[in-house]
Amino acid sequence: MVVTNNSGPLAAVLTGPGEPITLHNFAKPNVKRGEVLLHTMYSEVCGTDVHIQQGKLAGVPYPIIPGHFAVGTVEETGGDVQSVSGRPIIRGDIVTFLDVHATCHRCWQCQVNKAPTKCPSRKVYGVSHSSNEGLLGGWSEMILLQNDVAITHLPENVSPLRFIAGGCAMPTAVHAVERGKVGLGDIVVVQGAGPVGLCTGIVAYHSGARVLIADKSTVRLEAAHTLGFEVLDLSTSDNAQSLLEYATQGQRADVVIEATGSPSAIQSGISLVRDAGRYVVVGHYSDAGSTTINPHLDINKKHLEILGTWGVEYIHFHKAIGLLARKELTPSGIKIEDAMTTIYPLHEVNKALSDVRERRVVKAVICANSGD
Ligand SMILES: [Zn+2]
Ligand SMILES: [Zn+2]
Repeated sequence: MVVTNNSGPLAAVLTGPGEPITLHNFAKPNVKRGEVLLHTMYSEVCGTDVHIQQGKLAGVPYPIIPGHFAVGTVEETGGDVQSVSGRPIIRGDIVTFLDVHATCHRCWQCQVNKAPTKCPSRKVYGVSHSSNEGLLGGWSEMILLQNDVAITHLPENVSPLRFIAGGCAMPTAVHAVERGKVGLGDIVVVQGAGPVGLCTGIVAYHSGARVLIADKSTVRLEAAHTLGFEVLDLSTSDNAQSLLEYATQGQRADVVIEATGSPSAIQSGISLVRDAGRYVVVGHYSDAGSTTINPHLDINKKHLEILGTWGVEYIHFHKAIGLLARKELTPSGIKIEDAMTTIYPLHEVNKALSDVRERRVVKAVICANSGD
């Protein structure tokens, strides 16, 4: 790990696919009108960061400062700046922001297709900004929020650690559950007990569903169990269908939501859905390869609805924070920040990344200013 010795804010830089992360000092940014400089409290390592390091996500302008979700205190503002709700943003406030910005609201995707997450102008902190542009990623002691970034204060009962425990997974889960039109009394199977899977379980639970979470990782099944979910333990049997039918007295799921990132999970997931049910894919934000399905048996004869889920809009972020404010967030009442997170200082970011890659932890949180 390289640390240069000027005194500006330290940030973790990924120079290219397969490269280790190195730490570098950057010049403290000049905050222009409408911008906000954050003193970072927490950021996170998610599966997408692993894929970015492996070069599996197209269009990443290496070198980058990774980390798309973060929370921090306001260090400086460029004049009067307001949150999305219109509240003034003042030095010392604890705020977070939607990583997605620069959506144009005037292109075909935005205006005709009403699919703003497909807007070609869209930029994402920690993903689609080069580190040559400045501190535009979360694995950094400071983050510069440009003047078009949607910023919000955290509600009083959402601690920064709880917010980051939900992280990017929670709004992604809100979007996936919305796509699956999950409703009261539905049986929902979530494939994968990583952060997206667990958050999907939480959102589906609050939508009134009976939730079963499938995985084969002991660490992740333990987290699902601790949060109070029924589990389908694929380490004891790879026949998810018989595990589900045993748990439900022969019923299949109204909705199955894939959150594994593994192409081989698709056929198995489809087999768990009842006729005329819905199958939502959310775990394939990067290209993990192909799989084979039978169009007659798996889609047409089954009268199946298959839905993708690309990115999030501010509304999903807003709903996720509202959900995080609930007192009884999980079926067991255990706090997600206690059950899901492992905290690493910024200089241990390579270890955090490899622990996520090897699924040794559920959610790796980066404490950017551990010396505070
Ligand atoms: Zn993410
Ligand atoms: Zn657009």
